[in-house]
Amino acid sequence: MTYTKLLVVDDDVIDRKTIIRTLSKEQNHYDIVEANNADEAYAYLDEMHFDVILMDYNMPQINGVEAIVKLRSQPQLKHTAIVMISNLYNEALVLDCINAGAQDFLLKQEVTSTQLTRSILQARKRHELEQQLYESYHQVKQLAEKDSLTGLHNRFHFDEMLNRLLLARQRRNREIVAVMMLDLDKFKHINDNFGHEVGDQLLVAVAGRIKEVLRENELLARLGGDEFAFACGELTSIRQIQAIAERVLHTFHVPFEIDGHAIHCSSSIGIAVAPINSEHRKELMKLADIAMYRAKNGISDKICIFQDNMQEAFLLKYQIESELRLAAQSQHFELYYQPIIDSQSDTINMIEALIRWPLANTTQLPEEFIPIAEEAGLIQAIGQWVLESALEQFSRMLCDDQYQFRLSINISPCQLCDSDFAAMVEQTLHAVSVPPNKLVLDITEAALLQNDQAINETLHALSNIGVGLALDDFGSGLSSISHLLQYPFELVKIDSSIVQQIAQPESKQHDMLQGLSFMLNKLGIKVVGEGVETTMQAKACDSMGISLQQGFLFYQPMSENKVKHILKDECKASRLSLVNCDAKTPAGSHNKKS
Ligand code: C2E
Ligand code: CA
Repeated sequence: MTYTKLLVVDDDVIDRKTIIRTLSKEQNHYDIVEANNADEAYAYLDEMHFDVILMDYNMPQINGVEAIVKLRSQPQLKHTAIVMISNLYNEALVLDCINAGAQDFLLKQEVTSTQLTRSILQARKRHELEQQLYESYHQVKQLAEKDSLTGLHNRFHFDEMLNRLLLARQRRNREIVAVMMLDLDKFKHINDNFGHEVGDQLLVAVAGRIKEVLRENELLARLGGDEFAFACGELTSIRQIQAIAERVLHTFHVPFEIDGHAIHCSSSIGIAVAPINSEHRKELMKLADIAMYRAKNGISDKICIFQDNMQEAFLLKYQIESELRLAAQSQHFELYYQPIIDSQSDTINMIEALIRWPLANTTQLPEEFIPIAEEAGLIQAIGQWVLESALEQFSRMLCDDQYQFRLSINISPCQLCDSDFAAMVEQTLHAVSVPPNKLVLDITEAALLQNDQAINETLHALSNIGVGLALDDFGSGLSSISHLLQYPFELVKIDSSIVQQIAQPESKQHDMLQGLSFMLNKLGIKVVGEGVETTMQAKACDSMGISLQQGFLFYQPMSENKVKHILKDECKASRLSLVNCDAKTPAGSHNKKS
């Protein structure tokens, strides 16, 4: 048999005994403890659990409503119902007690055994329901305010708290508040390479590390995906803000150990400052976001504090991105071709496809829009269009059913991450009946710096199909010899910035390129000199054994029709030279601009 544990609190001993007598007439079993005043009651409540407290409203030490409030503030009493009893009855009093947390209110004069028992039962039930309601409210509140993966605040709550806590205080005290947006670099690659579960665990670990370096009162939230936000108040200088951001970035220096993988992950932080940039939370979040994109595009500086000119640049970029999206859908691009000549045989060895984006008054060059396409995730669609169109046009440039030259196409690092890329290239080659060895794909070193497994596999798959691979713009950035050994490159294209400095035989650049060319020859890798603009540069390349050359000295990039004419002439010339058994046309015959 279960007993209802009841605490009867009344300073009037007669009233107390009457209640106990009334209850004992019932079949129900009560385990009753009596208290003479509030303090005695609190002492009992500290030591044991009660299902119901039956308490007199009028006691000398404390007013009934105050007593209820005090009881309800005790967490251990959250499952205990409270019934108030009084000699007085007025509706306002009853409402005050219920609002303060009591479940029922009874007049002492009307208390009968049945009524008292029913009231206790109902009070217990009502309290149970209130508890359930409170718990589900709490759950909904949690859901509405917390990010379920990391347990951090979500965007909505961050927004609220930023306004309520930090910005309100900032306005009062004229202090500085910094809103910072943090985005993980290449999180998609991590997800693709290690799977979403590891990706999720990484987000949890990142949340933990950021939390560790922030103070208790600093706000931290996960806004969604791999984007976090934090806000710090009570600041007095920009240097302090920079120091906090640096502290956070520093925590990424140690790789994250997840599921047996050591994951190297970096991040970028954009910052907006109140009141300098704005005093409004929405505006601050937007400006921090703009600064974050800036930080992401920077090579070394991964922290960026918003400056006014950034908004204009951002809007311009946003406009280009929207137009580019439409162009990608309607495939509104053109291909130009620039030949690469072989100075030894004086023939065209390759033609390089170069994309152009025709607009109403101008033509956009790839260096202006390819980075935007990469960032906006449009490069895959554009890259596929380039590959299909260039191969299709190339197949129509046949000379006597033979190709005297190869086609070179630029590939963005983002395209190589796609595990289907090699298969897609193979299919496209097959569709236009172009042999794989006639295609050379230009890969920039940026793709290899990530040391990504997916890219490694794609490059080897392409090489296995028979497609040629060229390391593009070599010498322009962080050139690494190890890339030449690690990946199956048959060609290295020396960046124009080096070629254009080699005309002086005593220069360091000259000696370096000579050494490089010697080494590449030894490794069986062919070399192309890019951006040859003068005969001096062409001669310097020749003297180093770099016979494959590209540049305005020979040809500018040109339309499909123009390149077709040139190739036709080339074809005729080579047929003629075959008939005359004269293998070599006079040197410099390509030294013309279109
Ligand atoms: P790149 O692969 O180094 O291509 C050669 C670039 O150098 C071309 O610029 C060409 O016009 C320019 N050039 C050639 N000879 C000379 C010269 O003698 N002097 C000077 N100053 N420049 C010369 P373009 O067409 O503007 O292309 C720029 C870059 O855009 C390319 O550099 C390539 O990395 C990228 N790109 C072009 N087309 C595509 C494409 O279809 N997809 C991707 N992902 N990137 C592309
Ligand atoms: Ca290229």
